[in-house]
Amino acid sequence: MTRKTTLLIMAIVVLVIFLPAVVVSIGGRSGLPFQSANAPSAQGESESEKGGRWQVRLYRADQGEITVMDLDEYLVGVLLAEMPSSFETEALKAQAVIARTYTLHQLRSLGGDGCDKAPGKADICSESTHCQAWLDPGSAAGQGGSGSEAFRDRIRKAVFDTRGEVVVYQGRLIEAVYHSTCGGKTEASHALWSGGVRPYLKSINCPYCQHSPHYRGEILIPFTRLAAALPQDVALPAASGDELVLEVASETPGGRVKTLSINGTLIEGKELRRLLELPSTAFTWEYREEGLFLITRGRGHGVGLCQYGADGAARAGKSYRQIIEFYYPGTEVTKIMP
Ligand SMILES: [Zn+2]
Ligand SMILES: [Zn+2]
Repeated sequence: MTRKTTLLIMAIVVLVIFLPAVVVSIGGRSGLPFQSANAPSAQGESESEKGGRWQVRLYRADQGEITVMDLDEYLVGVLLAEMPSSFETEALKAQAVIARTYTLHQLRSLGGDGCDKAPGKADICSESTHCQAWLDPGSAAGQGGSGSEAFRDRIRKAVFDTRGEVVVYQGRLIEAVYHSTCGGKTEASHALWSGGVRPYLKSINCPYCQHSPHYRGEILIPFTRLAAALPQDVALPAASGDELVLEVASETPGGRVKTLSINGTLIEGKELRRLLELPSTAFTWEYREEGLFLITRGRGHGVGLCQYGADGAARAGKSYRQIIEFYYPGTEVTKIMP
């Protein structure tokens, strides 16, 4: 895979991370009950589970139709869209278990919210801006845009080797959110989303993502662009930074900007991120002649698994289970079906 493709895939990853659907999911259900003992089994086949295999109703936004497929078949397409081919096998396996957990949490037949994007009743859609990124492994092969056959084989093996495995906290499926790169410290979910504290989505120090191209970034925002992007009630100097005063009004547990004061007007960090298209809400700044110079850290919301961190941890010899238990403290990986 080319570096360009890798970057494109990571861009998709970031879009997925930003999506409101995940936020809704976070703020909603308290988690579906799942224990290996009481997990639904092949008996009493439902639409979501035929022949002992979970079925996913995927809305393919590109085709405008719903396709029903096996969960693991679906997961291969998710990993293809989410993971660079350079990533270690244990990182692929960690992502497979997390994406499986996230998807089961969405399944309507299990009480999940599903996806409201489709005209029919779908569990999830392929739109990176709405649910979870997904690429068709079959057609991607022909387009040559999604990695080699060898990479797809590695993905299939990662999904197969973790078959039936999910992440649970106190016997319930976790809200398995993830992001590209935390930049050294992950974020607590309650800093961004409603629904209270989730002990397994707390801020932790991550020493593993320094090799990410998104670990640190620099962006110069000309004053004219700043004025155009910010809400009208933010008082800005006309053309220079002479009278511009930025202050962090409040910080998140993960050391990100929760609220920023711009010349006395408060603006939420996540709103600023959206308006200025910043990679994350972790940033510092310098006032320059030409504009506001931002030094950013990481990419994505920062909650849950750090994908580049997962790769770094795998390079350091950690197993996929160790990686998951590191990024979602207090959880465990369990097999809910054979
Ligand atoms: Zn959707
Ligand atoms: Zn990290």
